[in-house]
Amino acid sequence: MSNGPYGKITCDCGAVSLLVSGAPLALGQDTKGARVAFWPLDAVQVGQGADELDVSPDDRGGDTWACRRCDECLLHAHDEADFAVMAGHPEDTADLAPELSSSRQRRLEELGYRVVTGE
Ligand SMILES: [Zn+2]
Repeated sequence: MSNGPYGKITCDCGAVSLLVSGAPLALGQDTKGARVAFWPLDAVQVGQGADELDVSPDDRGGDTWACRRCDECLLHAHDEADFAVMAGHPEDTADLAPELSSSRQRRLEELGYRVVTGE
């Protein structure tokens, strides 16, 4: 990842970039405790390298979006729950207004993620 979660995310080799807009639904941790942000799927668009983007099923019912050339995983998408999981937290969370419904939070937790609420 060469950029923060806002804006453009480019894989290691630069072949694939994703454009991310808006604000994350929530922040949290993945199953290994790494910091991740949860985004609505419609906030994510392929900027370039659609031909190099390898979308393959992961082991939790979602899809892994990775670069065919450098193998970097850019995000995990969960179509049926309508969110994408990206590594890292936005640098500026001051504007963060999570609008995570409780059903969606439950779904995240069922998938093994932890949601950090801004208490
Ligand atoms: Zn790449």
